Amino acid sequence: MSLSVVIKTPTVSYEQPLGLYIDGKWAAGVEQKTFETINPANECIIASVYIDIAVKAARKALNGIWAQTAPSQRGRLLTKLADLFEEDLETLSAIESLDNGKAISLSRGDVQAAADVLRYYGGWADKLHGKVIDTDPETLNYTRHEPIGVCGQIIPWNFPLLMWSWKIGPALATGNTVVLKTAEQTPLSGLYAANLCHKAGIPAGVVNIVSGVGGVAGAALAAHMDVDKIAFTGSTLIGRKIMRAAADSNLKKVTLELGGKSPNIVFNDATIDLAISWVNFGIFFNQGQCCCAGSRIYVQSGVYDQFVEAFKARVGRNIVGDPFADNTFQGPQVSRLQYDRIMGYIRSGNEEGATLEIGGQRQGTEGFYIQPTVFSNVKPEMTIMREEIFGPVCVICKFETEEEVVRLSNDSVYGLAAAVHTRDLNTAIRVSNALSAGTVWVNNYNMLTAQVPFGGCKESGIGRELGKYALSNYTHVKSVRIRVGGALF
Ligand code: NAD
Repeated sequence: MSLSVVIKTPTVSYEQPLGLYIDGKWAAGVEQKTFETINPANECIIASVYIDIAVKAARKALNGIWAQTAPSQRGRLLTKLADLFEEDLETLSAIESLDNGKAISLSRGDVQAAADVLRYYGGWADKLHGKVIDTDPETLNYTRHEPIGVCGQIIPWNFPLLMWSWKIGPALATGNTVVLKTAEQTPLSGLYAANLCHKAGIPAGVVNIVSGVGGVAGAALAAHMDVDKIAFTGSTLIGRKIMRAAADSNLKKVTLELGGKSPNIVFNDATIDLAISWVNFGIFFNQGQCCCAGSRIYVQSGVYDQFVEAFKARVGRNIVGDPFADNTFQGPQVSRLQYDRIMGYIRSGNEEGATLEIGGQRQGTEGFYIQPTVFSNVKPEMTIMREEIFGPVCVICKFETEEEVVRLSNDSVYGLAAAVHTRDLNTAIRVSNALSAGTVWVNNYNMLTAQVPFGGCKESGIGRELGKYALSNYTHVKSVRIRVGGALF
């Protein structure tokens, strides 16, 4: 390792690698540029991280050692990596809380979920196969599901390690090599996990981890002529740039997981206590920094008043504070920039005439903490109703009929997720079918597991991650047609 620093957190002390992990070795960026990563709980500088880009190592490994590695061995390596994530769960969790500000209990959940994803895809590695297709007695046709090649992967800061696993798991299981760029706000856990790849025995060049500013390192990956696929998670704005860069370069394959403004619908017949706890979790989990956050809450008129009062009481009990305290539910926002953006949305809600039911202020005087915030009396055209806030801010609206709430829910450019709370199975199925969303949760929210696909309709993205479906986004199908008979003429 060329560069590292010892970092002390309230739960562990550990050695943090810095630089770029390329071709199985640690290197400083060629430009020797550094930028700072900030602890969002106290605004202190944690470490400097070097920047660079490397694709050649991934190409060499793709055509060399990785092509020679049996699928079952790819599976063993991913499983081993999952084991190492679990062995290092405390350290990885501490890094996530330090760098991102998320509550330590939730960081532990993220790391376990990342290990689960790696293990799940490890299981798929030797179960991928094509088909034999019968056309006539003189031909043998079969398909091969081949790796796409060198995959550029760009991840955001809201779930640094979990997004790392969503990208690396299916890519490696299917025989691709990767160059993954972490978000500039949260590079530390991805770099630490690079060391775990090394320890697991993943050959040099198969996984390359780079840190860097999006407009420089990320843009270079998206435009690179020798990158075969780009997988991106982040804002819709940058998603468009990624597609443009792919189109303007080598038409690399593109998958995008983008923003959302997800509706969370409570019908008169819902079990109100349960609905309240899922709605609360749906918006305030991870400080509201979830692409699928249930930020538009629609409550049917029969239970509206009762719901709003009980929901406010529930929100008031959410513990906002030190990410390293065991009972904290909501930590600080990830950065000053995000904090300012969110406070700007709260201002706009007030200025445009919505009613502030609870919250709306900074919490404390140090760190990027924002009170959980609920607005009511929100009109469809208001900014806080239409735009993704990506913070602990939601709107509550009253509706009368099922037809009306489906129309209001679908009145968005986004289509990532939605939820329905009802005890009537027919309502649940009918409304789930009618919603434009990649995922619909019924009587729950934010439940994500390795086996079930996740992704968006409309401007929320292209393609699916997780589950078996993600594998097809990392393979292309080759048809082989063998003539068994003699000459045709
Ligand atoms: P972003 O889209 O700018 O950044 C996400 C990733 O893309 C980062 O790794 C970043 O370095 C990279 N990136 C930035 N510009 C790039 C470019 N020109 N080319 C290639 N890569 C580039 O997101 P952000 O600025 O960190 O957050 C802004 C907003 O995006 C948030 O407020 C939120 O609305 C949304 N967001 C959504 C998700 C999600 O999971 N869907 C995650 C993070 C942010």
